[in-house]
Amino acid sequence: MLMPNYNRLEIVFSEGNGCRLSDQHGRHYLDMISGIAVCGLGHAHPAVAAAIHYQADRLLHTSNLYRIELQEKLAAKLVSISGMDAVFFCNSGSEANEAAIKLVRLHAHEQGNEKPLIASMQQGFHGRTMATWSATKPDDKHYAPLLAGFRQIPYADIDSLKALIKSEDNLAAVILEPVQGEGGIRIAPDDYLSAVRELCDQYNLLLILDEVQSGVGRTGRWYCYQHSGIEPDIMTTAKALGNGVPIGACLAKKEIAQLFQPGLHGSTFGGNPLACRAAIAVLETIEKDKLCQQAAKIGDYLLTNLKKKLSSENIREIRGRGLMVGIELAKLYPNIVSTALKYGLLINLTAQSVVRLLPPLILTENEADEAIEKLSAAFADIEKNEQA
Ligand code: PMP
Repeated sequence: MLMPNYNRLEIVFSEGNGCRLSDQHGRHYLDMISGIAVCGLGHAHPAVAAAIHYQADRLLHTSNLYRIELQEKLAAKLVSISGMDAVFFCNSGSEANEAAIKLVRLHAHEQGNEKPLIASMQQGFHGRTMATWSATKPDDKHYAPLLAGFRQIPYADIDSLKALIKSEDNLAAVILEPVQGEGGIRIAPDDYLSAVRELCDQYNLLLILDEVQSGVGRTGRWYCYQHSGIEPDIMTTAKALGNGVPIGACLAKKEIAQLFQPGLHGSTFGGNPLACRAAIAVLETIEKDKLCQQAAKIGDYLLTNLKKKLSSENIREIRGRGLMVGIELAKLYPNIVSTALKYGLLINLTAQSVVRLLPPLILTENEADEAIEKLSAAFADIEKNEQA
């Protein structure tokens, strides 16, 4: 028996191909959520399948007691696409953020700040381990006592950060998502990110950008901060990096990365040959097939046509960046996900009232049209039932 920590839909998928999934009964679905931004290359991508197969036939795991050439190769690739200097590999987004938080503390201690604080953002999400949950929901009582050292401020509000800097001498870092995913596809304006960067430089704060959901091409660049021309000190990535093979990474600039001296951090599975081989295949495919550009282009198409065809008084706003799209509803429609499912469409509802679309980067215009049609039908169904 499973612990009851998930609210699952009554559906069992047996196979996938591209943007399509089929269930046990042979019904087909258009996948507009990609396992929560994980399967960026879609399902059963031949390059990823071949990489996994090749590696499984040779070597799955040796541990970080030894050099792992595939890890070094993947690190070099990640460094070259991100502008960061060094990489620590782990197995999830939460773990990548844990590493980031630890690096901040090491860095602050080195500077004589023994009780460093990290600013995090309201409606942000950084994971469910104790440290990342403390950054996400510092006031949550379920797991009290949470980790101390986090101060939350409103997102995309530079004055709140300025006020926090004034009031907290021990502030050491800021963590934020360039687009808040779980928080309802809230997009930080580019000038906000550059203003945060400036304040961090001015007050000697580290900037951690959590790109766990927005990274690996999803917003139309490898990493979303690349739209704004700034660089973080620490960046975290996971989800789509392995297209379904668990892998996460924390990247940092040299001076910060070197603080992880032997023994200070680690992971048994982190960066094992299987995960690294899969991630290399993912990054090479995105590059070869120009999928960052594709995500930008098809994202624009999807957004424009959603706005054209879906606007109704029940929709407050449709917003997106690349293939992170949110449809904010004017009222609560908890049934929208199950109604869309009847039409063979997989979507997700987040922050209570935002329909979230995170399709594979390989989505075609025809598939985007089909998703909009199915979504319109689902909305029409719900509205009809409301009036009845
Ligand atoms: N950061 C962000 C921005 C996320 O969206 C998520 C997952 N939704 C996480 C961190 C946590 O990742 P994981 O579930 O892989 O630990």
